[in-house]
Amino acid sequence: MGWSWRIGRIAGIRVFIHATFLLLIVWIGVAQWMRDRDLAASAAAVAFVLALFACVVLHELGHALTARRYGIKTRDITLLPIGGVARLERMPDEPKQELWVALAGPAVNVAIAAVLFGVLLATGGPQPLAGTSATGGPFLERLLVMNVFLAAFNMLPAFPMDGGRVVRALLATRLDYTRATQIAATLGQGMALAFGLLGLFTNPMLLFIALFVWIGAAQETHMAQVRTALSGIPVGRAMMTEFHALSPADPLSRAVEVMLQSAQQDFPVVEDGRVVGVLTRTALLAALTAKGESAPVREAMTSEFCLADPLDMLESAFSRLQERDCSTLPVVRGGRLVGLVTLDNIGELMMVRNALQTKRATG
Ligand code: ZN
Repeated sequence: MGWSWRIGRIAGIRVFIHATFLLLIVWIGVAQWMRDRDLAASAAAVAFVLALFACVVLHELGHALTARRYGIKTRDITLLPIGGVARLERMPDEPKQELWVALAGPAVNVAIAAVLFGVLLATGGPQPLAGTSATGGPFLERLLVMNVFLAAFNMLPAFPMDGGRVVRALLATRLDYTRATQIAATLGQGMALAFGLLGLFTNPMLLFIALFVWIGAAQETHMAQVRTALSGIPVGRAMMTEFHALSPADPLSRAVEVMLQSAQQDFPVVEDGRVVGVLTRTALLAALTAKGESAPVREAMTSEFCLADPLDMLESAFSRLQERDCSTLPVVRGGRLVGLVTLDNIGELMMVRNALQTKRATG
């Protein structure tokens, strides 16, 4: 995500903080200062937000570490003012796994709340919670209340909240995946409308949440539709078979020449009939700036890439393309390069299928 800085690494997962989150911290400190003109109170307000966001990081780690148990890596965790986002490389295919991954986040907040309650009991009992809110009351009590709130809010049965995933996972054990997603998304958008209406009359913050929920639900439906459209089509039927390949020893000027002559953006790099790397347009441009056009392709290509087999299903090729942030998948049969799959040509295939289906429906 742009405008984010890396603040550390926990359990091997990079944690980023978004610029707007720093703004939030400054804003809270300043707002408190304007009200009380008390440095200690401002520091306490900022400390509370930091403690709260530490809980959010733990919540996201709950998702990430549960996903890891199913062999799914997490690319990174980013802290935004609205909460945390853990970017999993892919979503679990098994409804049961999705259920556990979704539940793990709110479960962490419940656990934190329980620990805080235990600490308060051991140290003379909690203050009455009646006077405690997000902005006032003793520190630990407030943190406890906020963790209960986080768990409850995230369990709302609406995409993109964890509760929405729980609903889909439960439905998907009985219905097919797309239908389950549609029902969960409709629920989410219904809830977004309710939030929006409520927000109009009470708290404008709810309008933001409504928008966020609405967009999340729409995205989720789209992804599920793509997955369904691609399932059952083998890679061999969608791959490009007319393309240019480069050799590791070719100068970058050769890559530029081919890129300008064809519409190809990424190139497989082949040595002795074997794929040894992929040269993307971005990497090519970066290398041209850094090393000039006489540098060999070998120095600009990436040797970390995934391969596909013509008999693989397009659905799995598509998730591999998304997982690795790469745009081209070389297709190899018997060690020989036979084609390329790109996000663009998957998109074209979907448009063609759509057009044919519309034709069948109308004609
Ligand atoms: Zn969550």
